[in-house]
Amino acid sequence: MTDNNFFTQTVHAGSDVQPSDGTPIAPSIYPAVTYIYDNMDDLSAALHENAGYSYARYGSPTVSALEAALAALEGAEDAVAYSTGMAALHAAFVQANITPDRPIIAAQDTYGATYSLLKKMFDGEMLHFVDMSDLDAVKSAIDQSSPRVVFLETMSNPLLKIADLPQIAEWAHAANAMVIVDATFATPYLIQPLKLGADVVIHSATKYLGGHGDVMGGVIATSADRARDLRMQQRLYGANLGPFEAWIVLRGLRTLALRMREQCANAMKVAQWLIDQPAIAKVIYPGLPDHPNHEVAKRLFRAGNFGGVVSFELCGAGEPEVPPKDEDYFIFRFMEALKLIRTGTSLGDVYSLLLYPAQSSHYALGADERHRRGIGDGLVRLSVGIEDADDIIADLKQALNVMNDK
Ligand code: PLP
Repeated sequence: MTDNNFFTQTVHAGSDVQPSDGTPIAPSIYPAVTYIYDNMDDLSAALHENAGYSYARYGSPTVSALEAALAALEGAEDAVAYSTGMAALHAAFVQANITPDRPIIAAQDTYGATYSLLKKMFDGEMLHFVDMSDLDAVKSAIDQSSPRVVFLETMSNPLLKIADLPQIAEWAHAANAMVIVDATFATPYLIQPLKLGADVVIHSATKYLGGHGDVMGGVIATSADRARDLRMQQRLYGANLGPFEAWIVLRGLRTLALRMREQCANAMKVAQWLIDQPAIAKVIYPGLPDHPNHEVAKRLFRAGNFGGVVSFELCGAGEPEVPPKDEDYFIFRFMEALKLIRTGTSLGDVYSLLLYPAQSSHYALGADERHRRGIGDGLVRLSVGIEDADDIIADLKQALNVMNDK
């Protein structure tokens, strides 16, 4: 390179500076798309034998650091990161090789987009929905359909049902099926599904793993063999996580345990307060003794922790138009009155977020399907943040007053 050719200099100047002394305490962000080697044999090994990085769609160091961290937290042999939780779910369903004679049995009240994805990918005989908290129904679905896959969420959305994973995994494995678990709501802080019989664990890293509402990502934690296969698939499908996003999720992970501990404690306080409010028809929280799966949650979750999400039904719901045409609809009055709690379509962040499933996450299902699943017109879902619990409660209280004042 000639030193004084500005055009060449702008391309190469500074690129040979490497850290020399000491190891950086924080992981580095490697944005490089391609990697160079001194000889072509090493490049070939990197390209074809995974003996090093070659092209970022085939893997890159910051993403590998996140994958290693998640594999460790899940007790998995390996993990593969994706651009979103939906991309991770799609990859796992593609890999599963579902056919009409080896269908997928899926939880009926999954996240709305997961339900739509399953319907889009598999139709007719390839897909059966079942209430995963109804063990008799699960057993007979497995016996009758000889599934390739049983798919469930550790904590369903928005009804927060808890599946008895060890029992379901035992039946699934006896039928030669594998178990895929979306553990987004519970996180490895509450439950490590692979240790309880799951074969594949999926997260939307957009939620608790990232935890700050500033990054999208997904991850699959599984066996080394499956992960290898998923990476080959990812080379073609290309829904990779970028290095900057991997770094942000990794940074979020460092406080996952602290955040989850606070969010679980806050959610319990909020749920207990909500029970006594006349404007609340029903409180759904796995930590409450009257929750239908409270005992399962106690057995499977980290002791004394029941998650950071509380769903509750506001009194007064009828058969509203969804989205309601009436601007003064009482649920919207409540939501608009909230000052501290934000009304946004996500969960798992440091700040409290409230969502109306009928208007957002479960809108596409239509009213009939929502009602069939037990998602009432007055149901809202609160993802409890790490603010002081008393402040969250005070905000709910004043918003309920505004709702009732009209
Ligand atoms: N799984 C669950 C349980 C979710 O709640 C979501 C999103 O809300 C997803 C998967 C999809 O994740 P993402 O939005 O990162 O694609």
